[in-house]
Amino acid sequence: FDAVVLACGMGAVPKLGIEGEDLPGVWDALDFIERAKLGRDVGVLGSRVAVIGAGNTAIDALTCSKRLSPGSRVTCYYRRGAAQMTAYAFEYAFAKQEGIEFRFFAAPARILGNGRVEAMEFAQTGADAKPTGETFVEPVDTVIRAIGQNRLLAEIEALGVAHDGGVVRVDESLATSVPGVFAAGDCIFEKGAGEAMVVEAAEQGKVAARSVDRYLLGTTSKAASL
Ligand SMILES: Cc1cc2nc3c(=O)[nH]c(=O)nc-3n(C[C@H](O)[C@H](O)[C@H](O)COP(=O)(O)OP(=O)(O)OC[C@H]3O[C@@H](n4cnc5c(N)ncnc54)[C@H](O)[C@@H]3O)c2cc1C
Repeated sequence: FDAVVLACGMGAVPKLGIEGEDLPGVWDALDFIERAKLGRDVGVLGSRVAVIGAGNTAIDALTCSKRLSPGSRVTCYYRRGAAQMTAYAFEYAFAKQEGIEFRFFAAPARILGNGRVEAMEFAQTGADAKPTGETFVEPVDTVIRAIGQNRLLAEIEALGVAHDGGVVRVDESLATSVPGVFAAGDCIFEKGAGEAMVVEAAEQGKVAARSVDRYLLGTTSKAASL
């Protein structure tokens, strides 16, 4: 190809890195939401659902769980407080209105169960999100982890473009450090700079397309000096 636009998005939800994580009943929020929204079977969620994390994806997982299983007690566990949630205030308000509960200052410590999820141990955290030394156990039947998304390092590094921890570096024309390679969407999303939203990705797609056009017409040949 003479030009490439990298728009691979982001990857799976990272593992929590705790004991019991591979037990049946533990979900990656993206797999769960995808199945739920496509009307595919997600099995029996049980009477208690725990969603770990408090961002936009967590809210989707919480509301999907509640709607799929209205009788279940659906709780969001987050290691910081309500003020630090990355979900929008309107999403938080909506979730509470749906009957979803929030337990703040609780970090996942262990998932317990014999053959499938039965309970979860949490570490109580302080204002700095660090464990205080106190723990508590909650009975749960389903755990959904929604603690962000991995970056697609293999794809990014295969193209040899400069990046910061998996966030592809681009200039204002969305050129990367490799001539002829442009990037748009979630793969260039950096916390604190814009939003990881469809409307942003679509706009960046247009900017990248114009930049590819200029590049192919020879009106610019430069890679970004990143
Ligand atoms: C649960 C959830 C809910 C969201 N809700 C909203 C919302 O309500 N409103 C909103 O505006 N935004 C929402 N977003 C964010 C929005 O989905 C993203 O910002 C947007 O989809 C980014 O577009 P993108 O094209 O960069 O990446 P994506 O839409 O993720 O597309 C990337 C594509 O690249 C493909 N791909 C990856 N690697 C490869 C490879 N090696 N080879 C070939 N193909 C590959 C992927 O399969 C995927 O199809 C939500 C995100 C999540 C996770």
